[in-house]
Amino acid sequence: MSSLAVIPGDGIGPEVMAEVLKVHAVVEDVFGTGLKTEVLPWSADWFLEHGDVGIDVLAVRRDHAAVLLGALGDARIPDNRHAIRIIGGLRQQLELGVNLRPVRLRALAHCPLKHVTAVEDVDLVVVRENTEDVYVGVGGAVRAGSPAHVAMEVGVHSRWAVDRVVTAAFELARSRRRRLTLVDKSNAMPSAGPLWQGRFRAIAASYPEVECDHLYVDAAAMELIRNPARFDVIVAGNLFGDILSDEASMLAGGLGVAPSASYDPEDGSFAGVFEAVHGSAPDLVGTGRANPLASVMSYSMMLGRLGLREAHAAVERAVDEVLCGDLLTPDLGGTARTGDVGDLICRAVARHD
Ligand code: ATP
Ligand code: MG
Repeated sequence: MSSLAVIPGDGIGPEVMAEVLKVHAVVEDVFGTGLKTEVLPWSADWFLEHGDVGIDVLAVRRDHAAVLLGALGDARIPDNRHAIRIIGGLRQQLELGVNLRPVRLRALAHCPLKHVTAVEDVDLVVVRENTEDVYVGVGGAVRAGSPAHVAMEVGVHSRWAVDRVVTAAFELARSRRRRLTLVDKSNAMPSAGPLWQGRFRAIAASYPEVECDHLYVDAAAMELIRNPARFDVIVAGNLFGDILSDEASMLAGGLGVAPSASYDPEDGSFAGVFEAVHGSAPDLVGTGRANPLASVMSYSMMLGRLGLREAHAAVERAVDEVLCGDLLTPDLGGTARTGDVGDLICRAVARHD
């Protein structure tokens, strides 16, 4: 019997995670995956009460097959220390170097672009490096607060981490439409640029069946809107991948339907951390307007990575069904509440045969 660590988190995190747990109970009933859940209380409330985040990352890794992570972020902790320690701790200590952010349009109505005329035109995955770049916390400030204030934020890019994420992206592209686009800003980044470009070319030699492509990040931002159908898999560093995946999510309905998976491709016994791309959305707390689908879709990615193919397919079909119907939360133009959408997913999974 394996176990899932469930961290509901802050803001709408617990509200959408409650729907995921409902869906999981049905999946368990229908497919008998043998995955029990353990809800772990680390959150802003916990941090404020205990003065510490509480997470023991290595114990989480030891005791669980995967982590379902809710959003973390709370205005009472302005530097988001608790979130950075929990999310950063999981990513860094567990070497979760690959972050997948798929964007697939399920019903034409959810794409705001009028020149997108077929759902197949939006079906891409952003593969984001997850441990380096400007997120490493290297830098400093001098003369802070004075008119001569200077701040430095250093982007770190190691050959090792670049190889890991580029290889994962080629593997993914090979299993999809076999087209991989490297996105960088090598024309303005004379140190990181050649590393990414050189490793991309070197690794491409092992994947002759994958068509390679390159765009500067500014051009990629434009192309995502101009012609999303040109993209299959995009690989990028941590910062550009973060920005482009939020942009790309809008092509399929926005943050309410944007899931993600973070994993270490070399760790065969831990599936990774699965979380919605969105944050804690304090404006929606308690309103019943939060869309639970991003979290349900992240859960579905987890089922896929755990090799539970039937359960994964059933949840994907349920998500398709809901997104093609009209019982939707307000972010998708409907009037349904968080729990209504969760119930609908549960009923669709239960109908599975
Ligand atoms: P973070 O810094 O944690 O990424 P953020 O400032 O980017 O947070 P989010 O919490 O991601 O902000 O949300 C941005 C806005 O998107 C929210 O204010 C909310 O209106 C909308 N939003 C986010 N998640 C959802 C959701 N699940 N359903 C509906 N709307 C959402
Ligand atoms: Mg955000």
